Amino acid sequence: MTSTASTTPVGASPMPLDASRLIIERTTNPQPVPSASDRLSSLGSRCTDHMITVKWNEQTGWSVPKLEAYGPLTLMPTASVLHYATECFEGMKVYRGFDGKLRLFRPECNTERMLQSATRISLPAFDPAELQKLIVALLAVDGPKFLPNSEPGTYLYIRPTLIGTTETLNPQTPRDALLYIVASYFTIFPEDSATGLKLLASEESMVRAWPGGFGFAKIGANYGPAMLAQRYAKEKGYQQVLWLLGEDGQVTEAGASNFFLVWRTRDGVVQIVTPPLDGKIILDGVTRRSVLDIAKEAVTLKEAGFGDIEVVEQKFTMQDLLEASQEDRLLEGFAVGTAFFIVPVDEIGYQDNVVTFPGEKGKDGEHSAFIKEKLRGIMLGLSQHEWGFVIPEEY
Ligand SMILES: *Cc1c(COP(=O)(O)O)cnc(C)c1O
Repeated sequence: MTSTASTTPVGASPMPLDASRLIIERTTNPQPVPSASDRLSSLGSRCTDHMITVKWNEQTGWSVPKLEAYGPLTLMPTASVLHYATECFEGMKVYRGFDGKLRLFRPECNTERMLQSATRISLPAFDPAELQKLIVALLAVDGPKFLPNSEPGTYLYIRPTLIGTTETLNPQTPRDALLYIVASYFTIFPEDSATGLKLLASEESMVRAWPGGFGFAKIGANYGPAMLAQRYAKEKGYQQVLWLLGEDGQVTEAGASNFFLVWRTRDGVVQIVTPPLDGKIILDGVTRRSVLDIAKEAVTLKEAGFGDIEVVEQKFTMQDLLEASQEDRLLEGFAVGTAFFIVPVDEIGYQDNVVTFPGEKGKDGEHSAFIKEKLRGIMLGLSQHEWGFVIPEEY
């Protein structure tokens, strides 16, 4: 981008992303709202009636955003994204609250992270607040129909995506891009499923992210190559991979979720622990951040009858985890992310060992259950909190 920026005509600076220019072209072919059972069937990802698209060009900047019928994109076979994975995305949910309102959860965390991901993969910058306004506009139109008032507790999954569209077989920074936002009502992730996760620790020959890499960015290039290890784990009877890094087996993430432990140290201190973000290996999850924030409100935990708890972002290895298990210091393990929310881990397979977590299989431990209830209350409008962002339902 920087090397060719000088070709911009003098006096004509590229247009910034501007949600106030949005043009609305409603679909002439609205789709029926699927029944609850259709949503759970495995027919594929279905989206709502509309999507938002915005083109970008290096010379002219961001074009007029459009809300239009959901449908296929037109791309040249040589489009940058198809060859060089110039793509980044976000994943968030909009919830129908028990107070009748539609809410996003900390949306500014997602839009700011999307800007970071875009920058890492040489895609254009934008004002995250404008992206948020576009997401809100789509949900103001499709939210009331697909998340009816009569179904509190339901949600849509929103996927803002940015791709490089320049026709080029030259691996170079895209000069054209397309930002689009779709909302899927297909419930891929049964967050209330009765079973917990069985994780298979990755082998040294399969690494998800590494120092100096891009594990911290939500870019497509992080996910396609991880599917092979995921398939291998499935074949062995596990659902997800627990990604390790380095010869000492540092624990990083669980599938595409952040990973937490609750354990007692050898000094008898109860710790809620998750791997740190430094080194840019781990994705800065919104759920991770929120779990940490809630857990650090020591007052709330104390009031709920928990004793002293330390909340730490700290490296730990598979060996530390094994020892804690052998010494009966392991209390809870859980994976967190927007898609699955908070899911207990029942078991971890590592080389010839199996680490089993105490407690009933598939049931949240007491610490994670407490934190989960707090967050669910905010998402579903049971408690008013600044993290809940209410969508106006008309446009
Ligand atoms: C999206 C994602 C997460 C979870 O992030 P949230 O913001 O909580 O949804 C964790 N790890 C990876 C690798 C992810 O892609």
